Amino acid sequence: MFINGEWTMGSDNRTQPVHNPADNSVLADFPLASEADCLAAVSAADDAMEVWASTPARERGEILRRAFEIMVEEKDQLTQVIVAENGKAWRDAAAEAAYAAEFFRWFSEEAVRIGGEFRRSPSGDKDLLVTPEPIGVSLLITPWNFPAAMATRKLAPALAAGCTTILKPASETPLTAAYVVDVLNRAGVPQGVVNLILPSPVGKLVGRILQERAVRKLSFTGSTEVGRILLQEAAKTVVSSSMELGGNAPFLVLPEADVDAAVEGAMIAKMRNGGSACTAANRFYVHTSVYEEFSKKLSAAMAATKMGPGTDESNELGALVSMEERDKVAELVSTAVGQGAQVMVGAETPDGGAFYPPTVLRDVSHSMDIAATEIFGPVATLIPFEEIDDAVEMANDTDLGLIAYVYGNLEDGLATARQLEAGMVAVNRAVLSDPAAPSGGIKQSGLGREGGFEGIDEFLETKLVGINPIN
Ligand code: ADP
Repeated sequence: MFINGEWTMGSDNRTQPVHNPADNSVLADFPLASEADCLAAVSAADDAMEVWASTPARERGEILRRAFEIMVEEKDQLTQVIVAENGKAWRDAAAEAAYAAEFFRWFSEEAVRIGGEFRRSPSGDKDLLVTPEPIGVSLLITPWNFPAAMATRKLAPALAAGCTTILKPASETPLTAAYVVDVLNRAGVPQGVVNLILPSPVGKLVGRILQERAVRKLSFTGSTEVGRILLQEAAKTVVSSSMELGGNAPFLVLPEADVDAAVEGAMIAKMRNGGSACTAANRFYVHTSVYEEFSKKLSAAMAATKMGPGTDESNELGALVSMEERDKVAELVSTAVGQGAQVMVGAETPDGGAFYPPTVLRDVSHSMDIAATEIFGPVATLIPFEEIDDAVEMANDTDLGLIAYVYGNLEDGLATARQLEAGMVAVNRAVLSDPAAPSGGIKQSGLGREGGFEGIDEFLETKLVGINPIN
């Protein structure tokens, strides 16, 4: 763990193994943080707050810029670490390493653009200085599916805003987080500004951290279930919370869609990161006029996808993060098949590591469990529809609202996009992720936005200073 500028094994020398899910080997033993370690991280971040907040924005930006440069230079090493502990395909890991670095670049540029306003009250009796200030010590909790990018997407805006941080990575993928923190350390982040801990037991200790008065921000990416628990914890001390939670992304193929483009998009929206993305297309609503063609072409593309360890760069689909995750996916598929879904390709669990093959299920109905559950694996479910309005209604029939995909002519696509209940809609394309794009969900998919101009606002609080009018 990394506390107050130093790598340490922690106060009670407990560790947990980190596994390579491609072969179940143990990669490392990672230190677990006790309550004392957690409080030491909070106090280091608290002590560093004043200096970091008053460090000129340009200097904070330059440190982030250096972190970007180091990460780009070392992208192969970072990719290797991601592949080893997460299991994803090399190309996914390499794309993630590049994407992760971009958050440092984007927010190095945003650091110097934090504005403020000078206003006069309507009655003319006072002048108002409206100044954004760093919100304070920020607890950043990240998942295992994008272990580098989800960390930089939080660290970069927090640091750009002048906040000090405690990063809590997923227990499956702490090595990537350690790499990212090491990059920041080498880039010149002062002592105490970035801390890295893996608290255990996690629920109790994260709750404990949130009770500390110094901690003013919680930024979480993970499941809606854990997000709800954390919001309750944060409520006790009224900690500002940003939440990137689960998705259940619909992918609509409208009557006049270019089927080849839709299949190509489906392969990316479904298979990027092996389907382990909250933005992954989860259920495909396909117009009956193109259903047969789409189903055949998608199945062929899925069948042609090469699966195997991410260390072999020719593999397009790697392992899931753990055997447990693989079993969850297999279970969802077998339940769907039991409920009448037809297997077009895949659905057979191989022996060995945590692999699950590219799978297409057709004749799925909207009411099946698999259409209501975030699959988080390489499984596409095809549901036919007759009327666009029905497809929209089914797409919106969920408590989640992160992202939706639409393929069709531009007019239908845009009209449908406006009706879809999602924080993000991709029309005739399969990836929206970009450091410049404000990402986030509505309904129970989250609170707040990450990236874009909005991302830094989550780490700023408005301070009002009123004075007599300056004449
Ligand atoms: P995923 O479905 O991506 O595994 P989780 O919500 O389970 O999502 O995990 C996301 C992050 O939340 C991880 O860092 C995990 O360790 C952490 N986490 C899990 N349970 C808790 C909890 N009760 N309190 C705080 N953090 C938790």
